[in-house]
Amino acid sequence: MKHWRKPLDSDKYSPPRGRVHLIPDRCKGCGFCVEFCPKEVLEVSDEFNIKGYHIPRVKPETTCVACLLCERICPDFAIFIERLDEEEAAEKKPVMVKKGAKT
Ligand code: SF4
Ligand code: SF4
Repeated sequence: MKHWRKPLDSDKYSPPRGRVHLIPDRCKGCGFCVEFCPKEVLEVSDEFNIKGYHIPRVKPETTCVACLLCERICPDFAIFIERLDEEEAAEKKPVMVKKGAKT
């Protein structure tokens, strides 16, 4: 889904930043989070979870703006977002954290 709107004063404000957390074994591979992320941050990975579904991953060189849409839309509560403060956002930390992964 393409997101084309841009505020006229976008140079004055920094958008929030988020880190994606995934609980792989809850995922059922429906792809909603991938399809509807307005920043196209997520993609389907080659990795399988314990149920045999392909789980999402964060694409390189993308930026999560912590809009929380993926968290709200996931039917299985498998994905959630940690909002980063400015200092954390500036650091080069992994952008996806997997919880309890058995893959
Ligand atoms: S919080 Fe928003 S920008 Fe970040 S991965 Fe989820 S849908 Fe995409
Ligand atoms: S919306 Fe949830 S269940 Fe569907 S692919 Fe994304 S993480 Fe998995």
